[in-house]
Amino acid sequence: MKRPTPEPPAAFDIWREIFTTHRAALWSAANALVTCSCTDTVLERAREEAGAMDVPGAFRYGYALRAVVKAAIAHALQCRELPCDSHDSPSAAPKSAHIKSLPTPERFVYFLIEILGYPRRDVSLLVGMSDTNTDQLLSLARRRLKCGGHSAQPPHFSRDSNLTQTFENARCA
Ligand SMILES: [Zn+2]
Repeated sequence: MKRPTPEPPAAFDIWREIFTTHRAALWSAANALVTCSCTDTVLERAREEAGAMDVPGAFRYGYALRAVVKAAIAHALQCRELPCDSHDSPSAAPKSAHIKSLPTPERFVYFLIEILGYPRRDVSLLVGMSDTNTDQLLSLARRRLKCGGHSAQPPHFSRDSNLTQTFENARCA
């Protein structure tokens, strides 16, 4: 008696390796986009989605990141868990703590454009909004972060965080 041939494992192995190698970065992205404690669930879903795709090597990380973004957006819109800031997280979490204080649509737009560097049109499509709405949300998010007592930019983008912080504190006082 013959058993049905299982799915060839090659593609899944490839994606498992991508998600393991880049786990810290992918986890940070998912964790910045969702406010619940479901970051691992989001990564798992993204890996399942990506696993069905045959993507050339050079584009795999970008594709994995995009899969995480899509899974996180879908999850954030449907998850009913209350925001949770206290769950355990890798070291990258504090970097995105201030982003997580933003309302959900603003958080998506800000993170995708300012942190991941996605083009606005791309972000509008991912989030399901017009370019005008995306622009509005981005400027709201920027204003909120600037006056929230945090640097609006992640550490690796700040040339002189002390100076930036002093300037922002002075402006928002
Ligand atoms: Zn959740």
